[in-house]
Amino acid sequence: MVRYYHLELLACPECRNPRLVVYPVRVTEGGMPPRPESLKCRRWCYLFDRPSSTVPVESCVSSCVYKDIEEGVIVCPSCGRWYPIVDGIPVMMDDKYRDEERDREAAARLSPHLPDWIRIRARRPVPL
Ligand SMILES: [Zn+2]
Ligand SMILES: [Zn+2]
Repeated sequence: MVRYYHLELLACPECRNPRLVVYPVRVTEGGMPPRPESLKCRRWCYLFDRPSSTVPVESCVSSCVYKDIEEGVIVCPSCGRWYPIVDGIPVMMDDKYRDEERDREAAARLSPHLPDWIRIRARRPVPL
């Protein structure tokens, strides 16, 4: 399951850009990890969409470390690729391993829940 504080560990598999745009479609609150106080966003807080140095520690500790993103989309603003989050797992594959049929299914399922700006940004390889 991907939680908000995990997102900063991801990078675009094609262009290696680590500053992604994440749009959650379904979020659940999982159980607290064993030591939430030692876990927080370190570089970029995706929940508040700000550098983590500007987010109070308590905010990440009380939210980012236990919110699971079950479904959503990750967009790379530098190359325009998008990646689905399916059943809590970010499916981030190189183009050569992507399954176009599965991408089409994910796009059909997710895009009605996404704002226009994210569809405009996310273009390749299958439009959202
Ligand atoms: Zn955070
Ligand atoms: Zn990229």
